[in-house]
Amino acid sequence: MSAVIDPSPKPQVQDAAPRTQREAKIAYSDNKLEKRLCREVGRAIGDFNMIVPGDRVMVCLSGGKDSYGLLDILLLLRERAPIDFDIIAVNLDQKQPGFPEQVLPDYLTRRGVKFHIEEQDTYSIVKRVIPEGKTTCGLCSRLRRGILYRVADELGATKIALGHHRGDILETLFLNMFFNGRLKAMPPKLVSDDGKHVVIRPLAYVKEADLERYAAVRGFPIIPCNLCGAQETLQRREIKHMLADWEKRFPGRIESIATSLASVKPSHLMDAELFGFRGLVASGMPDAAGDTAFDEEPCGTPGTVRFLPAS
Ligand code: SF4
Repeated sequence: MSAVIDPSPKPQVQDAAPRTQREAKIAYSDNKLEKRLCREVGRAIGDFNMIVPGDRVMVCLSGGKDSYGLLDILLLLRERAPIDFDIIAVNLDQKQPGFPEQVLPDYLTRRGVKFHIEEQDTYSIVKRVIPEGKTTCGLCSRLRRGILYRVADELGATKIALGHHRGDILETLFLNMFFNGRLKAMPPKLVSDDGKHVVIRPLAYVKEADLERYAAVRGFPIIPCNLCGAQETLQRREIKHMLADWEKRFPGRIESIATSLASVKPSHLMDAELFGFRGLVASGMPDAAGDTAFDEEPCGTPGTVRFLPAS
């Protein structure tokens, strides 16, 4: 049975009143950021029915900005939410060289958050099994997944919350399109491959830039993510670069792509398993919402999403 540390809740330290106009402005903008994050996370939780009364949510905490942000916002929402749910933070210490073991326990104890640290030396396994120079992330993630599912069982967690944000979801979409020939992103909610767990991604609507700023505002004790020495794949780096470039050159494009993931028309794609093209026949009845077949799609709604010509 995994041991849980349950530090007694500590009162939250309130910000001192801003003294200058500049400080007041910063406090106002930080407050707006927190409100926006709460709103976006709350919206995702509601849209996908991620958390229900009585849930025990296991928040996977790596020590990166995303998982700290996820935990922080869930704690805030739990204070304000009309539903009652439990939160437990879990970190998997993979025994990477130089991992600062005390950072997370100290932080979680200070915050009064229940937590469990699972120590498993997956680093040595990965190093032993994968030849030098080959990518280690595949095996590492598989091992981590199995361990986290077991820990979720042992802790009685009903949901496993991961810190993937909107950027991760869009990168996965393009990685799959460009390199795997699949129209597939990263689901906001899924049932694990062993069929036993519900995994949720409450940051699905959140922009990475907001999480970066939030981490700086809140002063999270970030643990660097390159301790294992592995690098993200060249393909992922390329996609990140492409999306960042689009964000700069075509304001609204990323927003529009993200919105499109929630507005899918299977009848206008080409997957015969998804839509009954083979059995499609004319009904003879006019349909005002039906397809005109020959008209051009309108490009964006002025004032919301702008499409600029490529330079
Ligand atoms: S970056 Fe390192 S810790 Fe992360 S999945 Fe890859 S091998 Fe594992």
